[in-house]
Amino acid sequence: FYAAGGEPSSRIAAQGSVPLAVTDLTALSSSEGEEAAARAAREEEQTPFDLANGPLFRARLLRLAGDEHVFVMANHHIVSDAWSAGILFRELGALYGAFANGRPSPLPPLPVQYGDFAEWQRGADHAEALSRQLSYWKARLEGAPAVLDLPTDRPRPAVQGFGGRRESASFSESTTAALSAFGQSEGLTLFMTLLAGFTALLSRFTGAADVVVGSPIAGRTRPELEGLIGCFLNTLVLRTDVSGDPSFRELARRVREASLGAFSHQDLPFEKLVEELNPDRSLSHSPLFQVMFMLQNAPKSDLEMEGLEVESVPFALSTSKFDLTVSLSPAGGRLGARAEYDVDLFEGETIARWLRHFEALLESALRDPDAPISTLRLLTREEERRVVIDWNRTEAPLPVEGPLPRMFEAQAAETPEAIAAVFEDEQWTYAELNARANRIARRLQEAGLSSGSLVAICLDRSLAMVASLLGILKAGASYLPLDPDYPRERIDFMIADAPVSGLLTSRVLAGRFENLAMPVLLAEDAIAGPAGGAQDPATGNLPDGSGLDDRAYLIYTSGSTGRPKGVEIPHRALANLIGSMRTKPGLSRDDVLLSVTTLSFDIAALELYLPLVTGARLVLVSREIASDASRLLERIARFGVTAMQATPATWLLLLHGGWQGGAPERIFCGGEALSRDLASELQGRCRELWNFYGPTETTIWSAIHPVRGKIESASVPIGRPIANTRMYVLDPGGHPAPVGIPGELFIGGAGVALGYWNRPELTAEKFVPDPFAGDGGRLYRTGDLARYRADGTLEFLGRLDGQVKLRGFRIEL
Ligand code: AMP
Ligand code: MG
Repeated sequence: FYAAGGEPSSRIAAQGSVPLAVTDLTALSSSEGEEAAARAAREEEQTPFDLANGPLFRARLLRLAGDEHVFVMANHHIVSDAWSAGILFRELGALYGAFANGRPSPLPPLPVQYGDFAEWQRGADHAEALSRQLSYWKARLEGAPAVLDLPTDRPRPAVQGFGGRRESASFSESTTAALSAFGQSEGLTLFMTLLAGFTALLSRFTGAADVVVGSPIAGRTRPELEGLIGCFLNTLVLRTDVSGDPSFRELARRVREASLGAFSHQDLPFEKLVEELNPDRSLSHSPLFQVMFMLQNAPKSDLEMEGLEVESVPFALSTSKFDLTVSLSPAGGRLGARAEYDVDLFEGETIARWLRHFEALLESALRDPDAPISTLRLLTREEERRVVIDWNRTEAPLPVEGPLPRMFEAQAAETPEAIAAVFEDEQWTYAELNARANRIARRLQEAGLSSGSLVAICLDRSLAMVASLLGILKAGASYLPLDPDYPRERIDFMIADAPVSGLLTSRVLAGRFENLAMPVLLAEDAIAGPAGGAQDPATGNLPDGSGLDDRAYLIYTSGSTGRPKGVEIPHRALANLIGSMRTKPGLSRDDVLLSVTTLSFDIAALELYLPLVTGARLVLVSREIASDASRLLERIARFGVTAMQATPATWLLLLHGGWQGGAPERIFCGGEALSRDLASELQGRCRELWNFYGPTETTIWSAIHPVRGKIESASVPIGRPIANTRMYVLDPGGHPAPVGIPGELFIGGAGVALGYWNRPELTAEKFVPDPFAGDGGRLYRTGDLARYRADGTLEFLGRLDGQVKLRGFRIEL
C-alpha cells in the first residue's frame, strides 16, 4: 500500500515470499527459553511494517528444544482481521499436513480475491447503496455526544497514548443462563442483551442519557467472501437513548432497534463515516466513540498440524486502541469477559472492578427487568459492606468533658497561667480569659439571656470577642454571629429572621443597633470587673447552662440561590468536632494558632476553640491584617505562629505576598477544593498540610486528609470522616456508588445540624432519614459530587446542580 500523488494506492505482488527466521534457543533453560520467546513476540508486536514494500506479515520460529518450538506470526491489520485468523489457521494446518507428506496443496482456488472485493466496494453499483447508508448514519448520529466521559483514574492526556493492558473475568453460570433465557423470551440476541447491560453500566458510570459505543462487525456479507483472508472488518457506531430512566426491558428494546438499524446499514466503512461526518478531531480521544463492545461468538478455531501437538501461547498485546474495549466470549457454559484499557487513563484494579459491576448489574437487571436502571445494583454485598460500614467505622466515645465551655474550663484549670489568647500587644492567660467569660455569662443571665436564648454577637476581632463567645455559651445561651462589615440590610435580615433575644456588641458598633427592642449589652461593660483587682465572685465557673442537645450557635449561610438560611448547630456537634480535631490533627501546648477567619464563617469556631481546649495559644488578627499578605507575614513571625487554618484563597494570597514558608509549619486548608498545584506549593513550605472538608450544615469540618507525597488527582482528596461521622456517596437511585464512580455525598453522624431555623420544608429536603444507620439518624445531602478512591479516601469533584434525586430506598445488609 503506497501513496501515489498523495492518494493511497495498492499493488499486488505477483508472488511473495516471507522468510521464516529460525532462532536456536536450545542452549537456554526451559524458563529462559520461554522468556526469550515472549520477548521475541513482544519485538514482533512492536516492529512496524513497511506498508509500501511489504511484507505485511512476518513469521519466526524459536527452537526451545529439538522437539519444541514457538511459532510467532505478526500481521498488519490492513491484510487481516479476527475472522481471517481462523481461516489462516485452517489453511496453515492443511498445507502443513500436505507438504510434510510431500503432497501438493489441497486448497481449492478462491472464487474471488480481496482486490475484487475492493473494486466492488468502490464500484458504481455499490455507491448508491452506500450513499443511502450514509444518510441513515448522518441522521442516526446527529447531535451525538463527542466523548463518553468515563470516570478515569487519571486526567485524560492531551494526546492519546495507545498503551494498553488487559483484565478479564468470568460471569457465573447462572448469570450466563439468565442472559440467554431473557434474550429468548424478549426476542433479543445475546449481543443485544449484553449491550443493553453494558449501556446501562456506562450510563450509570457517567450519568449520560445518550450512550455511544463502537462494535466490530465481520463485514463478510456475501458467501464468496467467507473464505478470504483480508480486512473486511467494519465498525458500527451504536447509539442508545438512555433518557427517562428506562427499565432494563425497555432499554433492551431500544438497543435492539439501534442494533438492527446499524446491522442493516453495515456496509459503509467506518473510516468513510468519520470522513463524511467530519467531527471535531482531537488527538486526545478517538472520533465518534471511545468505548468498544463486542461479543465473539464465532467458534474459536485452533491450529491443528499433522504429527504435531499444537497449543497457543497466551500473549497480551500492550496496546489499546480505545479508552476501553470489552469483549465477551462464551466458553463452557459461562461468558468470559475481557477488557482492554488505556493505561494512561485507568488502573487495572479499576477495570477489574468494572467487570464485577457489569455482572452485578446484569444479575440485578435480570432479576427485575422492569426496575428502572437507576435502581440496579452495581456492588456485590461485600463491596457494599466495605463502603457503607467498614469505611464509616468512626465511632469514638465523644472525647470531651461536656459542652464546649466545660472543655475550655477543664483546660483553664490545667494551665491557668499559660497564655491563652493574644491580640496585638494584649494577652490573657487561661485563668484571665475564663474569669472574663464567666463575668460576661453572669451579666447576660442578669439581663435575662440564659438557657434557650439566642444572643446576636457583633464585635470586631479582639480578645473581648473570644470572651464574649465563651460567655454566651457559659450562660446557656447560643450565639448568632453578625459580621460588623456586613451590609446593613443583611444584618437587619438576620436579626429579623432569627429568634434573637439579645445583642452583645461594643460601644463603637452599637450605633447601628438603635431602636432594637431587646437587651443590648456592650462587651466593654460586661467584661469590666471591680476596680482594685479584688477577687470578684462573678468570675467563678457557672453551673452547666446547656446540654449537648441544645443549640450552641445559629449561623447564616448564603447558599447559591435564595435568601440566606440559618443553620442551627447543637453543642453535641460542636463538641464532637473540637474533640475529634483535638485528637487529629491535634494541637500541642507549644502550638501557636493564628486565627484569621471572620466569625460569620463557621470555620472560625475551629480556630478559636481548638487552641483553647488544648493548652495552645490563640493569636487573633484584625480583618485588615488578615487580608494583607505582608502584614500577616509580619504577625506570623512576630508571634511565633506554628499553625494556621485558611481557605485556599488565603494561602494563595500569602504565596503571592512572597511567603517563603517556615512558619506556620502546620497548614490547615479547607473551604474550597485544594488544587494539586497549590498543594504542592504549600507542601514545599510547611511540615504538615491538611485538607479539611465540610459544609456548615454538618458543623465546620466533616472529613480531613493529611496531604503526603505526590498528588495524582487534579485536586487533593478530602480524606475520611472525622469521629462519629459517616459519609455515603450515593448514586441517583440512592445506592452506594462504587469506588471511583461519582455520586452525591451525604453526611451523617454527630455533626449533623438540628436543621434550618424556621424553614421546615427546606430542612426536610436537605436533611433526610439515614437508611443505613437504622437508628433514626439523619443524613445531610451536601449537593457535592464525590467519589471514593480504592483506599477509602474521598475525592471532591464539584457541585451538583440538583439533578440528582434521592428516591425512597432501603438497603439490606
Ligand atoms: P459552606 O457550607 O459555606 O461551609 O460550604 C461548604 C461547601 O464548600 C462544601 O459543600 C463544598 O462544596 C465546599 N468545600 C468545603 N471544603 C472543601 C474542600 N476541602 N474541598 C472542596 N470543597 C470544599
Ligand atoms: Mg464550611
